[in-house]
Amino acid sequence: MSATDTIRNRLWIGNEWADAQDGRTFATVNPATEETIADVAEAGAADVDRAVAAARAAFRDGKWRRMNPHKRSRLLWKLADLVDANADELGLLETRDNGKPYFEARRIDVPSVAQTFRYYAGLADKVQGDTIPVPGPFLNYTLREPVGVVGAIVPWNFPLTLAAWKVAPALACGNTVVLKPAEQTPLTALRLGELAAEAGLPAGVLNVVPGFGDTAGAALVRHPGVDSIAFTGSTEVGRIIMLEAAGTLKKVSLELGGKSPNIVFADADLRVAVKGASMGVFYGKGEVCAAGSRILVERAVHDEFLDGLKGLAAKATVGDPMAPTTRLGAIVSEEQLDRVMGYVDAGRRDGANLVAGGERVKVNGRGNFVTATVFSDVDPAMAIAREEIFGPVAAVIPFDDVDDAVARANDSLYGLAAGVWTRDIGKAHRLAAEIDAGTVWVNTYNQYSPASPFGGYKESGFGRDLGFHSALEKYTHLKSVWVALDG
Ligand code: ADP
Repeated sequence: MSATDTIRNRLWIGNEWADAQDGRTFATVNPATEETIADVAEAGAADVDRAVAAARAAFRDGKWRRMNPHKRSRLLWKLADLVDANADELGLLETRDNGKPYFEARRIDVPSVAQTFRYYAGLADKVQGDTIPVPGPFLNYTLREPVGVVGAIVPWNFPLTLAAWKVAPALACGNTVVLKPAEQTPLTALRLGELAAEAGLPAGVLNVVPGFGDTAGAALVRHPGVDSIAFTGSTEVGRIIMLEAAGTLKKVSLELGGKSPNIVFADADLRVAVKGASMGVFYGKGEVCAAGSRILVERAVHDEFLDGLKGLAAKATVGDPMAPTTRLGAIVSEEQLDRVMGYVDAGRRDGANLVAGGERVKVNGRGNFVTATVFSDVDPAMAIAREEIFGPVAAVIPFDDVDDAVARANDSLYGLAAGVWTRDIGKAHRLAAEIDAGTVWVNTYNQYSPASPFGGYKESGFGRDLGFHSALEKYTHLKSVWVALDG
């Protein structure tokens, strides 16, 4: 199969393909080969306007929000089936756009997208309010109503997965959506729009506007016709979005960056902890908002742990994303690789000890690759210990006891996720309670389920993706209705 036969490269508005009004396009590049995969229509403000108008019309006419919820559920389930049926193509598009290994895109990302749509298909007929006992001769009840047009803005690290995290719950609750994929990775989102139409979603229910953040993204955030912005991306852009959304006081949810601590106690099963820490920081090339990039290790096992991690870093094969042996694919863009290498240089300059990786490499003479990198002797004040790198770079920091571990773990502006490795169940629960993070993994890392909420504390943002209640909070209004019973 050749994915190029089916590449969709225009705007998807009202279940139709459209060019940008000013005819502009931008190249989306395969970071493993540096070749242009496709020239994609570049949405400007006028195009965002058209997409919002389509979404607003589809919301108003009620075909979606007033659809029999069992039917809405079936259509979302059908979309999940179509994602599965087209998994090879979607996986290939994702790998070519993002640079991640094909087995990850095909075996992990795409199935999780189908699973997310199925989970929220199950929510569509369960959006309900409560009856509330109030004093006096009144009946009081609540209605959960869709918020309207949702603008979903997603990044390039898990393009289709994170699109599904927003689109599936928003649609299940009866909203219509304008999705803006990242400029680095627009292709799977466009195909998703088309598959949604094939599943039977009415025109305008899901629209996709590829384009740049400060133009298309900003237009969506400022648009008075958009009721809510669901964003995943950097903390820096999250701040801009919050400011820009203030103009129209729309609802905002932000899933932002992280510098997640992965804490290894001396009483952990060290072999398992080393593997978990390696996967936690190197999976997805470290381009993962929850990457366990600050590895805190109890002093008694520090050297042994470091040896183990060094060994696994050396085994994290950099290579062609299509090769089944590849563990580290291409970094999404040259710009991002420069950023990662900048942190490697900063780590060295600041006096940390580079014990593995740190090398920029080419595969078959091309592409943006870097070897799995481990720094030891990292001082918590160094940039590599504090700032989100978004690359396969681990900072290993020793600690003395439980209190020290908690203090170091929480010494961050971020609070997205954390890992704890210990055989002591009391210690595990104590840390789970004391760490400021939206997710804590105990003796595991990088576990996700559509049923379990995900999101941040502190500058990692607010609002939760996934889960049942968080979807209702994010994608519905709660209306209170009072009825006099003595009239
Ligand atoms: P990353 O650091 O992962 O590239 P960004 O936060 O830069 O994350 O981008 C995430 C998403 O936000 C992308 O779709 C990008 O186009 C979009 N974006 C960037 N800047 C803005 C902005 N000013 N307004 C709205 N969206 C933006």
